[in-house]
Amino acid sequence: AKTTGRDMALFYSMETDQRAVARQAMEQQLRRALERNELSLYYQPRLSAQGAQLLGVEALLRWTSPVLGSIPPSEFIPIAEETGMIRAIGSWVLQQACEQWVRWQQLALDTGPGDTVVPHPLAQVSISVNLSAAQMSDPSLVTDIEALLARTGMPAHRLELEITESQLMDNAHASELQLAALKLLGVQLSIDDFGTGYSSLAYLKRFDIDRLKVDKSFVHDMLSNPADMAITRAIIALGHTLGLKIVAEGVEDLATAQVLSALDCEELQGYHFSRPLPALELEAWACQHQPP
Ligand code: C2E
Ligand code: CA
Ligand code: CA
Ligand code: CA
Repeated sequence: AKTTGRDMALFYSMETDQRAVARQAMEQQLRRALERNELSLYYQPRLSAQGAQLLGVEALLRWTSPVLGSIPPSEFIPIAEETGMIRAIGSWVLQQACEQWVRWQQLALDTGPGDTVVPHPLAQVSISVNLSAAQMSDPSLVTDIEALLARTGMPAHRLELEITESQLMDNAHASELQLAALKLLGVQLSIDDFGTGYSSLAYLKRFDIDRLKVDKSFVHDMLSNPADMAITRAIIALGHTLGLKIVAEGVEDLATAQVLSALDCEELQGYHFSRPLPALELEAWACQHQPP
């Protein structure tokens, strides 16, 4: 049958309706997700490029809905942001991450010779949490984090906050003030997804940042795509000029890890080392992956 313009318009509007209904269903379920304990954090290790030492873990949100199944954060976080739910979810994430860090800190291994007790490899790590745009523009963010650190007993320098490049540049002046206040608390700051947004180099200098995370879209194909390789090298060089550490995310194979290490990228994260894991699985992973 011939498809007329009217049919197509109807088709598109039906599709739009279906999407709106699906979105609404998701929003409804998400509203109850926190109280129903459907959210959890997975943790992905970040390692030193030289020596594969475990340096930190990134907390990544997971949602398993009994109605909708498991929904990736790329789908539900935008909804949480649009509806304002991200404030409650974001502070839950921060609290869970700090509490988890404190539990890991208390872990010790009793596997040394005789009665030697060695600290668990996770007792030394820092923990990274992704901040949404709404959290970044929340005037109570700094005092909330300060109170959280005091309540949990987590030292500020072990908490790392990740802010995307585009978030940073959307309201660069406000970000500058917010980041300066966070830095005064002593937390670490990273720019996430670096290279995908528009960065003003002048601003980059003004933010008191510790790390740049090279976006995985460049890392993924860098061995086969000369442009991605060039961008990755340029980000590493730029970051080093500014005194920053560079993290490559999305490292999926040994060859990429080796090239990044040869390019003086300090830290690596990706499926090659581990997928994000629930806390208990990460504990087992960390014990098996201790460098010699
Ligand atoms: P992101 O912060 O850039 O996190 C890295 C994403 O890359 C994660 O996806 C991780 O699972 C994935 N990944 C890690 N290693 C590899 C790899 O080797 N190859 C590939 N292809 N992917 C890899 P995930 O967990 O689906 O999270 C997606 C995004 O959702 C995150 O991107 C972050 O922007 C957001 N997100 C996750 N958790 C939170 C949270 O608690 N709060 C906020 N505001 N955003 C979050
Ligand atoms: Ca022993
Ligand atoms: Ca991140
Ligand atoms: Ca990223």
